[in-house]
Amino acid sequence: MHPDLARLIDLQAYDIEAKRLRDQIAALPRQVAALDTKAKAAVGQRAVVLDLIVKEEALRRRIESDIADLRQKIVRIQKKIDAATTAIQVTSLEHEAVFARAEINRLEDAELESMERAEALEVQRTLADQAVAGATVTLDKESARATQAVARDRVSLAEVDGRRAALRAQIAQSPTGEASLAIYDRIARAKGTAVAQALNQKCTACQMMLRPQRWNDLRDNSPESESSQTLMACENCGHLLYYDPARDAPQRAAVPFESIAAQIVRSL
Ligand SMILES: [Zn+2]
Repeated sequence: MHPDLARLIDLQAYDIEAKRLRDQIAALPRQVAALDTKAKAAVGQRAVVLDLIVKEEALRRRIESDIADLRQKIVRIQKKIDAATTAIQVTSLEHEAVFARAEINRLEDAELESMERAEALEVQRTLADQAVAGATVTLDKESARATQAVARDRVSLAEVDGRRAALRAQIAQSPTGEASLAIYDRIARAKGTAVAQALNQKCTACQMMLRPQRWNDLRDNSPESESSQTLMACENCGHLLYYDPARDAPQRAAVPFESIAAQIVRSL
């Protein structure tokens, strides 16, 4: 293996972990914003119900006032009937009274219907109150959790960034280090990751078979081999290839974040 390659593999594990942390830090406020929208929607729905309750109350006040007016009207009609002098006058006034009583009946039915609607609205108000309370509790809880998680992620990110910078500085010190880093950065920018394991004669990034000669070169660990002298790339996808004979028993256990590195390498 090329002397820079093992460090580039570790660098890639840090880069992937740093990206994961950055994505997570960016995603958490969006999740909280979605819960905030939900809480606001619940408040909006409750406002609609409260508005309907107020309208029903106003309607009933109007109905009751109309009924009171009609009752007074009937009293006045009765007085006129008592004072009437002709049968025609009496008949006409009695018609008026019948009409007023019918109108009172109609208004009383309307008031009853309004009360039934008000009862249903009270049930809706209770549900809307519960929805608002639930959404608020969830928002507060998730918001606090997100704040803590972001703070934790920032600490982790600072640590990973520190280790990345230290590792890059270490790589740069090797005679070929600057060139290796430039190649690594160029491929990582274009493809997201730069390094891929060769396994079972295949590139694990693109799954293409390697030519037998290339596969043999990759596995040749002698100092004169091509893979020890140059960074070999997959001829199909361009990822830098490495062969790790100790994949199942990692030798770089002393490297920090090895568990992450090993995990990522295994998933490639
Ligand atoms: Zn490939």
